[in-house]
Amino acid sequence: LDFEDFVLKRDLLKGIHAAGFEKPSPIQEETIPVALTGRDILARAKNGTGKTAAFIIPTLERVEPKNQKTQALILVPTRELALQTSQVCKTLGQHLGINVMVTTGGTGLKDDILRLNETVHIIVGTPGRIADLARKEVVKLDECTTFVMDEADKLLSPEFTPTIEQLLNYHPKERQVMLFSATFPVTVKQFQDKHMRDPWEINL
Ligand code: AMP
Repeated sequence: LDFEDFVLKRDLLKGIHAAGFEKPSPIQEETIPVALTGRDILARAKNGTGKTAAFIIPTLERVEPKNQKTQALILVPTRELALQTSQVCKTLGQHLGINVMVTTGGTGLKDDILRLNETVHIIVGTPGRIADLARKEVVKLDECTTFVMDEADKLLSPEFTPTIEQLLNYHPKERQVMLFSATFPVTVKQFQDKHMRDPWEINL
């Protein structure tokens, strides 16, 4: 199987080749075609499997650059992972005219607010800061139809879970949830039962 076998925009394929990817990894083979249909995804995946591109490629395909509203939110547990993830987004999406923003705690809120005066199609960040910006109505998620959680086992801590559930309330009801996690503790199972609809389960 090649990336060309998925139905992807030509400019997205260009970004995939620019990243040096020749063939989809197993998790990408399983995730991408299903995610492109908009179905929820629940994937058990470790680092190093290509899981980041597995959710970024369908996200980039489904975001409409002409729509200036935020259409995808990617939650991760740490600033470092947010920066890495946004970098993958920028590399793969370099020819698409899609704007990606990273926002995490520990940096100036004012800079984020200024940045959000311009179009941001995809937000990558940690839950606390994004919820803060959503409460201030600086981040608007009413057309944000893609919701991704990477390292969900770490995200769904007693500290983060209420914030994540608040964030979901800002999203439209018709949304795609993609959840990636190395382990499946009860917190992840509870989240699945409460917030996901008939997810396609991937266990590699
Ligand atoms: P991840 O599991 O997302 O942390 O990715 C692990 C590494 O694999 C990263 O350095 C990616 O750039 C690389 N990678 C992801 N997908 C592919 C692919 N299809 N072909 C080659 N390398 C890839």
